[in-house]
Amino acid sequence: MLYNTFKDKKLSALGLGTMRFPVVGDDYANIDLEKTKEIFDYAIENGINYFDTAFGYHNGNSEIVCGQMLKNYPRDSFYLASKFPGFSEENVINHEEIFEKQLKKCDVEYFDFYLFHNLFSRNAPWYLDDEKYGLYTYLCKQRDAGRIKHLGVSCHCDLETLRAFLDKYGKDIEFVQIQLNWLDWTLQDAKAKVELLNERNIPIWVMEPVRGGKLASLAQGDEEALKALRPEEGIPAWAFRYLQSIKGVTMVLSGMSNMQQITDNINTFSSFKPLSEEENATLAKIAEGMLNSVPCTACRYCTEGCPASLDIPELIKAYNRKDYEGLYGVKKLEEDKKPSACIGCRACEAVCPQNIKIADIMSEMAELIKEKEE
Ligand code: SF4
Ligand code: SF4
Repeated sequence: MLYNTFKDKKLSALGLGTMRFPVVGDDYANIDLEKTKEIFDYAIENGINYFDTAFGYHNGNSEIVCGQMLKNYPRDSFYLASKFPGFSEENVINHEEIFEKQLKKCDVEYFDFYLFHNLFSRNAPWYLDDEKYGLYTYLCKQRDAGRIKHLGVSCHCDLETLRAFLDKYGKDIEFVQIQLNWLDWTLQDAKAKVELLNERNIPIWVMEPVRGGKLASLAQGDEEALKALRPEEGIPAWAFRYLQSIKGVTMVLSGMSNMQQITDNINTFSSFKPLSEEENATLAKIAEGMLNSVPCTACRYCTEGCPASLDIPELIKAYNRKDYEGLYGVKKLEEDKKPSACIGCRACEAVCPQNIKIADIMSEMAELIKEKEE
């Protein structure tokens, strides 16, 4: 395992993200404890020492399971990160109660790393109005009391929102977690964010390195182009090699859901083999061709508040397959689970970190399905 130095710590260059644990059946809240334990134990045995959870992952159960899994190991042998769920104004108001609950859920006395979760245009006013909400002051006090060792922020937001946040709180923000991968370099303006963070000497934590699995398998021609350049590397490894080429990247988080993924990723992180200019140019060309599909990462932030209880990421996956003849493969779904059940409320869009116009996609799919059925 490769390691990077951060302050007084030696962090594994690969961290275990915990929003995609294996689950029992289709129930996202029901984490498969046996399989998850296998993943945790393998991670620790092979040098991973950073674990990233959040209040809302797996409908609130990720923090609890992380606590259970890490209880088997000495507290000073791992670093645990969690995040403040600033998804609603109510949460921001009740920050003290939530933070205390998080420590209890994880069964720890302190968090090694703690982040303002998912800074974006909607919650920026709550995060930034410290006089009214007091969240920032509260978190700094927790840090001063040793209950948070390092404070950071995660964001999928536009550059200006991140800049405004850093202008105000930058002196206390020790790291920034951004969505960074070879597709988002242009799509989510990750390049500009990397430049901003490098300018300010703020270490970069990476999330969605393989974009929820989207970059783990590519169109046949694209895979062949990459194989020709590096016959020994798997396709997901390209996403990690790409990040090894970027200045400031200190931690790469990957939500590994099975043993195959974790063994492959640990193997990749046993060596430092950044991409050459030619290899980077090949990826940029492939990215250009992929930008027409909907960039859903299957984070599932949108599903909880959907009044129609639609499985939005699965429907978008079907949409991206562009399988019009097969009616997106959703024909067999119950009527109330099809895109036509969408009422267009756009509650999902308000929380989607990728700014996807979900209601428009549902409506387009519903129309096409109707046309085909007629
Ligand atoms: S717009 Fe449609 S998909 Fe989105 S939350 Fe409302 S009903 Fe669900
Ligand atoms: S539509 Fe947006 S919020 Fe929903 S799963 Fe995809 S990326 Fe996440």
